[in-house]
Amino acid sequence: MKRRDTVAVRVGNIVIGGDAPVRIQSMTTTPTLDVDASVEQAARLANAGAELVRLTAQGVAHASKLEFIKEQLRCKDIGVPLVADIHFNPAAAFEAAQHVEKVRINPGNFFDPGRTFRKMEFTDEEYSDELKRLEDKLVPFLELCRSHDTAIRIGVNHGSLSDRIMSRYGDGEAGMVESAMEFLRICRKHDFDRVVVSIKASDVSTMTATVRALVRAMDAENMHYPLHLGVTEAGNALEGRIKSAVGIGTLLTDGIGDTIRVSLSEDPCAEIPVARSLVRHVQENAAAEDMLQHMSVPARRPKPPILAASVEDLPPMPIVCADSGNRIALVHRQAPQHPCAVHLSYPADMPADDAVVAAAVDLGYLLLEGRVAAAVLTIPAIGADSSLEVARNIVQAAGLARFKAEIVACPGCGRTLFDLSVALENVKNACSHLRHLKIAVMGCIVNGPGEMAGADYGYVGGATGSVSIYRGIEPVYRNVPQQQAVHKLVQLIKDDGEWTDPQQNADA
Ligand code: SF4
Repeated sequence: MKRRDTVAVRVGNIVIGGDAPVRIQSMTTTPTLDVDASVEQAARLANAGAELVRLTAQGVAHASKLEFIKEQLRCKDIGVPLVADIHFNPAAAFEAAQHVEKVRINPGNFFDPGRTFRKMEFTDEEYSDELKRLEDKLVPFLELCRSHDTAIRIGVNHGSLSDRIMSRYGDGEAGMVESAMEFLRICRKHDFDRVVVSIKASDVSTMTATVRALVRAMDAENMHYPLHLGVTEAGNALEGRIKSAVGIGTLLTDGIGDTIRVSLSEDPCAEIPVARSLVRHVQENAAAEDMLQHMSVPARRPKPPILAASVEDLPPMPIVCADSGNRIALVHRQAPQHPCAVHLSYPADMPADDAVVAAAVDLGYLLLEGRVAAAVLTIPAIGADSSLEVARNIVQAAGLARFKAEIVACPGCGRTLFDLSVALENVKNACSHLRHLKIAVMGCIVNGPGEMAGADYGYVGGATGSVSIYRGIEPVYRNVPQQQAVHKLVQLIKDDGEWTDPQQNADA
C-alpha cells in the first residue's frame, strides 16, 4: 500500500513511518499507580496485537511507575514499546521520558494552561514572545528525550486547544494545524526528528479535513513527520467502530497515516481486531487499485443521501454497483462528475465485523466526498435490515444526517474512576432517541469538560463513583452518585424542555 513519504521514527523495537507497516496501538484503562494491573492489561494488549501501548501519566508519581511497568513486561519477554500520555504536567513528561520509549505531549496544555475560552489579545511582538517562551520550555524536554533515546508524539486534540491558539487562529482547522506546527518548527530548529504528530477530533469530517490540512502545512515547510490517526470520543459498539473506520479509513485510503488507534469505550483489547480489519481492507483496496491521492472535497456540505434496504427501493436513477475490488475507485471511474446512486455489496462469506468495517471505509469515503445521492448496502452476514442500520450509522458518522442522538464518549484511561462502559450504555438506553442532541460521556473531570465542548449535555466522571452533569460547558449538578446520574441527566434535559418521548420521536 503506497503511503505519503515520511521519515522513519524508531520507537523501542519498532519503526513508525518510512517503509514500516501501519502500526496498531491502544491505551490501558488501569490506574498507572497500580503496577500489577497495568502490566496485566498491557500484556493482554500486546498479546492481542497492539504494537504500542500507551498509559496515562497524570503526575510525576504515575510517570515514575512506568519504569516498573516496563521492567515487569520485559521480564515476561514482552517488548512492546510503552508511551506515556501527558496533559497539563510537564514535570510528568520529564519523568516519563526517562523510562518509556515515547512520550505524547498535548500542545494545548504543555506550555499553556487549560483553556477557559477567554479571548486573549496579542500584538505580533507579544505573540513572538509567547513562542520564545514555548521554545525555552520545550527544548530541555527534547534534549532529555534525545539523551534517553525517547521519541515523542505531538498530539493535538480539537477539544483542548489553548486560549492562546484559539484567540489567534480560532477554534477550527487553522487553530489545530498551527498548534501542531508551532511545536514541529521547534523540533526541527533543534534537529530533533524522532517525532510523530497527530490531530484528533470527535467529529469525523473535522478530523479528516484537519489532518489533510496538517499534511499540506507540513509539505509546504518540507516536513515529513509520520502521522498517528484516530477519532476521539468515538464511543462503543457499532457507532464507535463505524466512526473510527470512516475517519481513519478515509485518510489511509489517501495514503495518509503511519500508526492508528481505534478508540472504543470498551475493553481496550476489543480495539485491536477492528484496527487490523480496517488496515487490511484499505490494503486490499490498494492492492486492487491504488489510490494515492487526496479525495475531492465538495465545495458545499453534501446533502444526506437517500438510503434503502434494496436496490428496488431506490428512485430510478443510474446505479453504480460495486461488489468486489476497490469499490471506491470503481465509483470514481463510473461516476466521475456528479453524485450518484451506489450499491455496495460484500461477499456472503465475509465475517460481519469485517464487512461492517469495509462498508464504513468505502461508503464513508464516498459520502465525505459528496459522491453519493442514494445508497444501498448489502452485507449478507447481517441481512438487509441490519445493513440499512449500518448505512444509517455511516451517514451519521460522516455528519450528513442524524438518526439518533450523537453520543460521544471517551475510551477511558487510568484517570477514569467509575465504570465508563456501563455508564455509556445507560446514557444510550435513556437518550438515544433524542436525535437533536449531542451528549458526551467522559471519564474524567480533568480532560472531559474541555474535550466534550460542542456537546449539548455532558456526563463527566469525578471522584470515585461520582459524576457531574453538564449543560454545555456549565456544570449543573456536581458529584452526583453514579447510580443517580442518568436520572439527573434526563431531569436536566426535561427541565430545559429538550426531552421528547421515544414514541413521539419515532412519529416525528
Ligand atoms: Fe482519559 Fe477520558 Fe479523561 Fe481523556 S477524557 S484523560 S480518555 S478519562
